Parts: sequence; structure tokens; C-alpha cells
Amino acid sequence: MSNLVSSIREKYLHTLDQIATAARKSGRDPHEVRLVVVTKSQPLEIVQAAIEAGARILGENYPEEGVTKIQSLAAQTGVEWHMIGHVQSRKARLVAEHFALLHSLDSLKLARRLDRFAAESQRTLPVLLEFNVGGEASKSGWEASDESQWDALLPDVAAILELPNLQIRGLMTMPPLGTDAQDSRRFFRRLRLLRERLATQLPGGDWRELSMGTSADYAVAVEEGATLVRVGTAIVGERRYTSEK
Ligand SMILES: *Cc1c(COP(=O)(O)O)cnc(C)c1O
Repeated sequence: MSNLVSSIREKYLHTLDQIATAARKSGRDPHEVRLVVVTKSQPLEIVQAAIEAGARILGENYPEEGVTKIQSLAAQTGVEWHMIGHVQSRKARLVAEHFALLHSLDSLKLARRLDRFAAESQRTLPVLLEFNVGGEASKSGWEASDESQWDALLPDVAAILELPNLQIRGLMTMPPLGTDAQDSRRFFRRLRLLRERLATQLPGGDWRELSMGTSADYAVAVEEGATLVRVGTAIVGERRYTSEK
């Protein structure tokens, strides 16, 4: 094993360990939580090393960069690629064709485009709905910081549930950057409550996934019910370059 692989492996295993500890602490089965290793803006050799180190789900933010990596590493079997960043409408086709799960579906308009492209490639695209539970203007996702306004979200969500080639699997959020991991707790909790609300109001949907938590706060996210955590720098180190924006 190269030094790069063993160093990533050590951090990957440590992260899994922390996830398991946080899960048990909150009475959850550690197997309910899947670790997405975020490799955005990392060169191919790092992605390759992460796979050799044991990563099974990789998260990318930029569709073109992600597809290049998917195609370069096509021989790697058993790896699942997730799109976790905001998708511009002109990149929707790439996402519909190449990714196993989109975490960051943030508008009905994008949903309709993805549904059309998924149909054209004869597949169903699993998606998570991204909610902005912190109320920051700069964040993507449906505005959901005020619980008393949640009913206003229902028409869009119901319309997405009707799209034949998309399959909602749950919710995702990216909370405001705090100074302490505990700062994120109330936002993760809010996303969990929103899931309960949607599951009650739209019981026909599949609401099992909660994608929340990054390097800074994934343990808190697991305590609050995360089923997918998205961890980049804590496993693969600082990002090397910035890609298409
Ligand atoms: C970059 C990114 C992450 C990972 O962040 P780290 O701080 O590197 O763990 C998680 N989620 C999203 C949406 C991201 O853009």
C-alpha cells in the first residue's frame, strides 16, 4: 500500500469509527449511516487512492469534473458516485446520465429537466431535496428556515413526487458555517423535523435519507439522524484546485 493510500485509509477508518460512536451514543445502528467521501477539486490520483483505501461512495460537486473522473475510473467496480453540488440547468443531462444519487435537487424547474433527461437515457434518477434551513441568502435549496412556512413547500414537493423518472429518497442540507460543530445541531434537527412533516403530509414518498454533516460536524449530524454524511477534507485533505463554477 502506498503512503498516500495508507494515510487516506487511516483517516477513512477513523471517520467510520467516529460515525459508529456517534450512532451508538444516540441509540442508532451504525449501519444506518453511509459515508460519502467528497473528492471534489481533488486530482485523479487522490480519488484513486481513496478507492484503494476503501471508499465506496464518492461525492462530486461539479458535473463535468465528476463525469471525467467516473469515466477515467470506469474499471473500478463497486464504487457509487453522488452529485452533491448545485446543478446548473445546462449540466442537468450529465447528472441524469452519470450519477447514482443527486443530493442537491433545489428547484422544480431543475427536477423537470432531470426527469426529461433521465427518461431519455431510460433510467430513474434517485434524488434528495435540498433545503436551506439556516436562512442564508447565499445557500441553495428551498427556503425552509421558518417552520410556520413549511406548508408552502408542499406543492413543489408533490409535483416532484409525480415525475416518473425521478425518485425522491429524502432530504439534504448544508447549514451555515459555525465556529463549533454544536452550532449545526439545531439546523440538522430542523431538517429531521421537516422530513417528519413531509412524511406525514406526503406519505406516498420515500423519505428515508437525511444527507447532512461535513468534516466539521458529521458526528453531530449522525446524532441528529443523518443517514448520509459528506466528508471531504478530514479524509482526503485540502482541496487542490477549484473547478468549473
Ligand atoms: C465540499 C462539500 C462537502 C465536504 O466538505 P468538507 O469540509 O471537505 O468535509 C460536503 N457537502 C457539500 C455540499 C460540499 O460542497
